[in-house]
Amino acid sequence: MPAEINIIFIVKVLECSIIGAVCGFLLLVIHSFIKERQIKAMLGVTVLLFIAISGFGFIVYSTVSVHFITVFGFMVFLFVAIAITLPFAPGAHNYVVGEQSRVDERDALFHRFYRLQPDTPEFLQYYHDHPEIRDIDAAIRKLPALTEPGSRSYNPVDSPMMASIMDVVNSITRDIDWPPSTSNIKPFNLSPKDASQRIKAFARYLGADLVGTTKLNPAYIYSHIGRAPGEWGAAIHLPHTHAIAIAVEMRSDMLAYAPAIPATIETSDTYFTTAKIAMVLAKYISMLGYEARAHVDGNYRVMCVPIAVDAGLGEPGRLGLLITPQFGPRVRLSIVTTNLELTQDRPISFGVQHFCSICKKCADNCPGNAIARHEPTVVRGVRKWVSQQEACYRFWRKQGTDCGVCIRVCPYAHSSLPMHRIMRWLVNRNSFARRFALLGENVVYGRRHRANTANSDWLTTWKRS
Ligand code: SF4
Ligand code: SF4
Repeated sequence: MPAEINIIFIVKVLECSIIGAVCGFLLLVIHSFIKERQIKAMLGVTVLLFIAISGFGFIVYSTVSVHFITVFGFMVFLFVAIAITLPFAPGAHNYVVGEQSRVDERDALFHRFYRLQPDTPEFLQYYHDHPEIRDIDAAIRKLPALTEPGSRSYNPVDSPMMASIMDVVNSITRDIDWPPSTSNIKPFNLSPKDASQRIKAFARYLGADLVGTTKLNPAYIYSHIGRAPGEWGAAIHLPHTHAIAIAVEMRSDMLAYAPAIPATIETSDTYFTTAKIAMVLAKYISMLGYEARAHVDGNYRVMCVPIAVDAGLGEPGRLGLLITPQFGPRVRLSIVTTNLELTQDRPISFGVQHFCSICKKCADNCPGNAIARHEPTVVRGVRKWVSQQEACYRFWRKQGTDCGVCIRVCPYAHSSLPMHRIMRWLVNRNSFARRFALLGENVVYGRRHRANTANSDWLTTWKRS
């Protein structure tokens, strides 16, 4: 009967459309796995693709008048698609929960190991005031320094590559407290909107992958000098009102080696790039007649992560770093503070707090057992996960690199291939989608980190793009 034929035809068209969409998605996934050299996952998805393609033949030649199973499958597909795409729980931006106070830079771990020299008055005073960490730090000091002989990953040819980059960074970032240029009688008059647009465009030209502007929260200025150049323990007065947050992506193929030397070289090189951008921007702003200061590795007067959060670059994650929507924690940050008025970018929320509460992949893989597994705690008015800095750094010294395993395994840190962009969009939708994405992540990539140890010729085969 014509009516029956029409119904069968419509059902068949519907089924073919669904299978076509599924095949298209599977092809996208296969493309991503080939790029990432995930051979087993790629073969598994290829089998699924063949099964899906054979579904076409079944549908076209089947004489079954009502395709009950596929109609049922369609309903399930529709239900799952709606459930994971509805934006009914996009996340919340509620980190600041109480009165905030400034942090003394001397309380940061790197101050103790990069500034305090044994038996100096500063050293003796610090451990007199903090006897609870004297023995912990003394045990760490007995381990080899990063990139030096004695650590697990030490290599006399490759280890100095990281050291060479960081030595250059340190040598050019010591003296960066520039006054406003005297060539201008008065500051060049720019509206906040114009100034922000130009600065962001210039930052991107210089190599920034993400850049945002914000008012500077005084609570994010360190109270006293610790590691950074300047008189040890001197009170910090930074009369700046606005900040620029800069993020540069770290390459995921280099981080795949974590915790080995290539990952450390990538980290160091990205610090170099962020430092260059921040210093040039600060110099540029000073040439417009305003005060500006770059805050770069080893020479901070401010805390980078909360400023980057305020500037809309991302959210803080369980691993203690900024998680960006585009690259996850796979970025390095620098900041410029200034008295030039800039626009205020809006902080963003994309579900990181909830995703981190169910994921814990970084904590499960941390070789130093340093990342918190429990719920966030409130520290100085901010709700956050607090890692054990000493446990992390102890592993660095044993390993001879700055590790990076937590960054590497984070599901947000995948490369920017189309499949991962779709997954990032999905996890922003709701809590069901996050659980769905986490399940897929664990099935495809596994819960445990597998470092790339196969390709030893990374220097000759991989060039910076
Ligand atoms: S860098 Fe390594 S040791 Fe430190 S928190 Fe991350 S995974 Fe743990
Ligand atoms: S690995 Fe998981 S828990 Fe850790 S920061 Fe990334 S998303 Fe959060």
